Amino acid sequence: MFDKSLLDRCISCGFCLPACPTYALTGEETSSPRGRITLMRALETGQLPPDDPTLAEESSFCLGCRACETVCPAGVEYGSLLEQWRDHQWSGRDRPWIARLLMFVVSRPALLRLQGLVRRHARGGPGGGPDRAGRPGAAAEPATAPDQPVSLMLGCVERGLYPKVSRAVRELCPEVSVPSGQGCCGALHAHNGDSVTGAAMARALGEKLPGTVLTTAGGCAAHLAHHLGRDRVRELSEYLGEAGYAPAGQVTVDGRRARATLQDSCHLRNGLGVARPPRELIAAVADYVELPGADRCCGAAGTYAMLRPEDSRAVLDPKLDDIGRLDVDYVVTVNPGCLRQVQQGLRRRRSRARAIHLAEFLALAERPGGLSDGRPGPGEG
Ligand code: SF4
Ligand code: SF4
Repeated sequence: MFDKSLLDRCISCGFCLPACPTYALTGEETSSPRGRITLMRALETGQLPPDDPTLAEESSFCLGCRACETVCPAGVEYGSLLEQWRDHQWSGRDRPWIARLLMFVVSRPALLRLQGLVRRHARGGPGGGPDRAGRPGAAAEPATAPDQPVSLMLGCVERGLYPKVSRAVRELCPEVSVPSGQGCCGALHAHNGDSVTGAAMARALGEKLPGTVLTTAGGCAAHLAHHLGRDRVRELSEYLGEAGYAPAGQVTVDGRRARATLQDSCHLRNGLGVARPPRELIAAVADYVELPGADRCCGAAGTYAMLRPEDSRAVLDPKLDDIGRLDVDYVVTVNPGCLRQVQQGLRRRRSRARAIHLAEFLALAERPGGLSDGRPGPGEG
């Protein structure tokens, strides 16, 4: 079931416990990274039967945020262990039906293509345009041209829910192409008990997208980097940072410079170590304020918000309290799942702050004349 060298690496020191959001909720050892690794070992050695209810509960309660990896002195690759655990625990009909349905949909490229006809992302539908976009206005050019082709990955969730994100990338990065026939990267499969298919989907997408794969989703970036190699994959903020991108304007609200904060993407920060680039980009166009616990999971966690809505909200609520205290205009995100989670939370609280993807936020700075009331409806297609 498990890669023994990964499972043996844990020395049970417990340094990871304070970093774990689910341990913070329950205070129970079984809901901590160390406790879950103990459960994995019990499953591996047969001390616990596969149908033990604690195994089922804890494999599902874990957010998969990988915050435990960043503080582990032994270099435990918890994310890989969780994938192996769920491969066993969530196989076949033991997989939650919502996950099964989503996996069915995203593994069919024809269904993904249809989304472009309904919601016009950078490639799909009337006006989707050619592979290479022209940029309106007098926006800044990247300081350095890429030395190999750069292909924008549309993302299976993002192209349907937030088509404005890929369109904003085309404005920011005219050098980027948007190849047709893109499938899903397979992260959804890998995180929901089918890592073999998840890896195959990542490799297939890598063959469709020439050169550097550019993604606007932290979760997809980490999954693709794992399977295609780190050199081939760039998340938007790190790509813009490396290219020396300099925004042409600033984001304003009611005539003043906007106040904005960032909610990290767990997999981008904890998996790929990318934390500074999105902050620097936001600070270049607005007054940046650090959100306490920005590095803590927002509770979206892929399918988690659908599978465990109450726990997901319990993880999000303290963050919404912190956002309220910051009194910001925008909460910027770098992953579509986080965008949806924070957006819904802020709406429930009737907050004046708006959640927005980094690409859209930077595009606002490029065309301030496009603002009507100072803040558009972020993410709406
Ligand atoms: S996962 Fe790492 S930090 Fe946590 S108990 Fe094991 S060795 Fe210690
Ligand atoms: S992945 Fe996140 S929720 Fe799961 S054990 Fe690690 S820190 Fe806790």
